[in-house]
Amino acid sequence: MPEVGQEKQDKMNNTEQGMIGTNVDQGTSPAPKRHLRPKPYKPLFDILQTALWWTGKGQSVIPIRYKDKRPDVYTWEPYKTTIANDLQLAAWFGKGDHNIGVITGFRNLVVLDFDNMAKYTRWLFYTKEQGKEWLCKNTYQVKTSRGMHVYFRLPYPQRTLSVEGIDIKGRYGYVLAPPSVHPSGVPYIEQNRLAVQPITSLSDVLPPSLLARDVSLPPEIRMPLPLVNPIKSTLDPWETADNAGEASESVINKIKRRYKITDFFINTEKTSTDGRWLITRCPLHDDHDPSMWIDTAQQLCGCYAGCTPKPLDVINLYARLNGLSNKDAIQIMLRGK
Ligand SMILES: [Zn+2]
Repeated sequence: MPEVGQEKQDKMNNTEQGMIGTNVDQGTSPAPKRHLRPKPYKPLFDILQTALWWTGKGQSVIPIRYKDKRPDVYTWEPYKTTIANDLQLAAWFGKGDHNIGVITGFRNLVVLDFDNMAKYTRWLFYTKEQGKEWLCKNTYQVKTSRGMHVYFRLPYPQRTLSVEGIDIKGRYGYVLAPPSVHPSGVPYIEQNRLAVQPITSLSDVLPPSLLARDVSLPPEIRMPLPLVNPIKSTLDPWETADNAGEASESVINKIKRRYKITDFFINTEKTSTDGRWLITRCPLHDDHDPSMWIDTAQQLCGCYAGCTPKPLDVINLYARLNGLSNKDAIQIMLRGK
């Protein structure tokens, strides 16, 4: 019995020695390593600080009434295209009694708004299947009252649309951002402070078949597109187009023979006597004055209001109308969905 007691005593002595720094093993103690751990992610809760963070990133913000979704400015029109200055931000957010809205479409920001977690989870599963998991998990995201907001940046302005209960907030829209509080009392919560990831088209992150269902075409040319098999091959037509070099040219020409650029517009007006040049309302933005020009000779079109960095041919136009990549557009135009 006394021997056990002695052993205990020795252990205590060792511990004590370690604590006062005379033990050579002190380096293995966890305490000194603590400062090496990465700092845990801390969201910014101050609303003015958050507003400055957004404008510092080149995004436009507006004040929203607290626990509300309505803007608290006479008109938010100017902020669709310009960033408020710091004085204005201080006046809006200095008291901390507002929600904050981030303008979508500004610098081609697009936000996928999943109205419930089941849809979001299904989407994550889809992106994983597509090998896009990294892209989708490493972009700025916000937990909303019932679902999620996922932020991306496109190379062109995307009009706002809705597919299968996913609101895609684009040009001239806004989303509430943290630390805003939803009318129900639930706060918007940042999931990270990551940069907004660039994508080349919506079909980078959403199923093309889902997007193609939303077609802003006149009813007579709406889906379903004719189901055809232009290539006599056991291969998938796109596979052929993608891998056969010369064949891809012929596939593109087949599409261009089948669809005319004017098929995608109604109420066009001639702007040249020979009928080559037409003008119509742009389907890519909320257009009140016709600003989409059409060149029937070259089968190209473009928007004077800036929707089209480059003129669009019939494939590019179909892709843009549906948020598809050109590759997805070709596939759908060839075969239908
Ligand atoms: Zn336009």
